[in-house]
Amino acid sequence: MTDCLFCKMVSGQISPNVVLENDHVLAFRDINPQAPTHVLVIPKQHIATLNEALPVHVSLLGELLLAAKQVAQLEGLSERGYRTVFNCNRDAGQTVFHVHMHVLGGRAMGWPPG
Ligand code: 5GP
Ligand code: ZN
Repeated sequence: MTDCLFCKMVSGQISPNVVLENDHVLAFRDINPQAPTHVLVIPKQHIATLNEALPVHVSLLGELLLAAKQVAQLEGLSERGYRTVFNCNRDAGQTVFHVHMHVLGGRAMGWPPG
């Protein structure tokens, strides 16, 4: 989508601080980090929210999870732990409407989340 911030990162119009990239996903540092490591993992294909996820996206959504694992390894978080979060729509506080997984780590997390 031409007016989508994260699609502009995929197309190269905007250059984020990339942590990992493959044919399916892009992972980059959040501009407003909420933990020592705060990386966003996005599908290169535009999907606005999890509500728009379809059976045809199953493999792509799995790629996000595998990329999160790799990001954790690259950031040295695997053993200590980390959190993965998808925010969907208003109540969850979604502000960018291109599916993204937050990978947060480097500090102890509270539960339940706010
Ligand atoms: P949401 O609130 O939709 O779950 O998460 C959107 C995230 O995108 C926020 O954590 C926000 O800080 C991040 N973000 C918004 N604009 C930019 C940007 O231009 N660059 C980067 N790297 N992250 C952004
Ligand atoms: Zn998009």
